[in-house]
Amino acid sequence: MTLDNILEEIKKAKTIVILTHETPDGDAIGSSLAMKLAIKELGKDADVIIPEYSRLFNFLPGASSIKKESDIKKYDLAISVDCTDLKRLAEGDKYFESAKSKIVIDHHGTNKMFGDFNFVNPVSPACCEILIGMFEYFGIDITKDIGSCIVTGIITDTGGFRYSGVTAETFEFTAELLRKGVNVSDIYKRVLDTKTRANFELNKLISQRMEILENGKIAFTYINLEDEKNVNAEEGDHEGLVEIGRDIEGVEVSAFIREKENPKGYKISLRSNDYVNVSDVCLMFGGGGHPKAAGCFIQGELEQVKAKIISEIKKVLK
Ligand code: 5GP
Ligand code: MN
Repeated sequence: MTLDNILEEIKKAKTIVILTHETPDGDAIGSSLAMKLAIKELGKDADVIIPEYSRLFNFLPGASSIKKESDIKKYDLAISVDCTDLKRLAEGDKYFESAKSKIVIDHHGTNKMFGDFNFVNPVSPACCEILIGMFEYFGIDITKDIGSCIVTGIITDTGGFRYSGVTAETFEFTAELLRKGVNVSDIYKRVLDTKTRANFELNKLISQRMEILENGKIAFTYINLEDEKNVNAEEGDHEGLVEIGRDIEGVEVSAFIREKENPKGYKISLRSNDYVNVSDVCLMFGGGGHPKAAGCFIQGELEQVKAKIISEIKKVLK
């Protein structure tokens, strides 16, 4: 069984690195740190390498140990969490490809199974939720610190227990973590109810620019590099912006696009409400994600990129 293999690989390895996807969210960072703390319970050290992340996650246990890079060029074991493919794995080309053994743990249906051992459960609402079952199987005590990381991932990826992927188990796990002393309401406030000033400014801007198209079924908005510069945006300051369009009555698909340089183009974020599988739409452009939350990258100027993505979305509207 894959889980036995994973435990064996962890026990065997002398050097371990944990990696996650670029522009990491709460599930990505929470999964990485929970994994590190769990490995510590097994008596081993692991490096978490995340080059850039929002400072809002600095409260997480173990966050101060996050590295931007490492002197170790070839780890015995690399573990990817919450990431669909090697292309999206931050520093994957440096530390994942070169590792002697590779493990992938994820909850995206579009996962490319790019490890030697892949533990992927697309039904799980958060990668962090997969880790609970895994740690229990390994006989690891889920401490308050591990639980705080896990709850962070669950809360961010379920929009605060609101999305349809949430199951009775999600609440049962969370109840168990509450009993262990995890401060769920404090974490909720920090990761969902706290906005940076720059995020608030971008929020105003994209709301003003929001276009409602196709009889109200598509909400489209964007930011460019200059906007981000004007508000001193940092990593993570675009979080939640795509959800503003999604929450408008009658909208089926919300599209939020963000300018990038090298290569020049736009990072696309899509959300849907009811029947559109936005992961399928993003797959058309080499991206992926979940049925109701997905992303991709499209090269080109604003108008070109907008036309391309809107045209694909239109094909799947009823
Ligand atoms: P977001 O819009 O919040 O950046 O991403 C929504 C979901 O889609 C997340 O689960 C994220 O991991 C996934 N996703 C975003 N961009 C990409 C991409 O370019 N490729 C793939 N495979 N998944 C993506
Ligand atoms: Mn996730």
